[in-house]
Amino acid sequence: DALVRLEGVSKTYPSPAGPVTAVTDLSLEVIQGEILGVIGYSGAGKSTLVRLINALELPTAGRVFVGDDELTALPEKQRRAVRREIGMIFQQFNLFNSRTVAGNVGYPLKLAGVKQPERDRKVARLLDFVGLLERAHAYPEQLSGGQKQRVGIARALATDPKLLLADEATSALDPETTADVLALLKRVNRELGVTIVVITHEMDAIRAIADRVAVMDGGRLAELGNVYDVFARP
Ligand code: ADP
Ligand code: ADP
Repeated sequence: DALVRLEGVSKTYPSPAGPVTAVTDLSLEVIQGEILGVIGYSGAGKSTLVRLINALELPTAGRVFVGDDELTALPEKQRRAVRREIGMIFQQFNLFNSRTVAGNVGYPLKLAGVKQPERDRKVARLLDFVGLLERAHAYPEQLSGGQKQRVGIARALATDPKLLLADEATSALDPETTADVLALLKRVNRELGVTIVVITHEMDAIRAIADRVAVMDGGRLAELGNVYDVFARP
């Protein structure tokens, strides 16, 4: 079953130098329960793909489905509701520096109207899952990069998303920390059943955890298949 489906999607941005086509005629499914890696050089269209899936951008042509919703047919308000059901983690973590670890993780729950003490219980469970329960009252600047990304992951999971988008989530981390974060993402997938799209320019990250890989090149899907098959090709 497909959790995300793109059908013949193209995206052209206006720019002072003339229109720039970031994605061209892309058809792709993210299958429920998988970890899909999306790899490509800078400018390949990866960020645009992320923004099309989480409904920050609408395609110029084609259709995008998330679950039962066709994003391209929904009014903005409902697109925003779909976006809230997608977890996001980022290269620069995007934590609120003025909030504690617990405050960061609990923030989406607060927005969703979840009251105390239920919010505290949920935050504690999430921090325990990512191994940071004892850092609940620390501030982001007191944490290592790997710890910050663990907080980012806990926050992204707070609202129980079915889909997690990891946008260059390990690109700011050293190799050892990267391995830890990737192992955590694997647990998120296998133990919590969250479907994950890992967008990166790092082949090792995809080799480590992805079930399938989509290779993007110049805005097009160049290859799609099992990690082993795609990376084994000459
Ligand atoms: P990647 O994430 O793989 O680096 P992007 O999706 O960011 O690729 O970019 C693909 C192409 O689209 C690039 O040529 C980029 O310059 C262009 N692009 C991306 N966003 C915009 C924008 N908002 N306005 C104009 N051009 C853009
Ligand atoms: P950018 O091009 O800098 O990635 P975006 O429009 O994608 O900008 O997002 C703007 C900012 O909003 C992000 O940098 C991030 O701080 C925040 N943001 C967007 N979506 C989410 C989300 N699902 N969870 C947490 N923060 C988010």
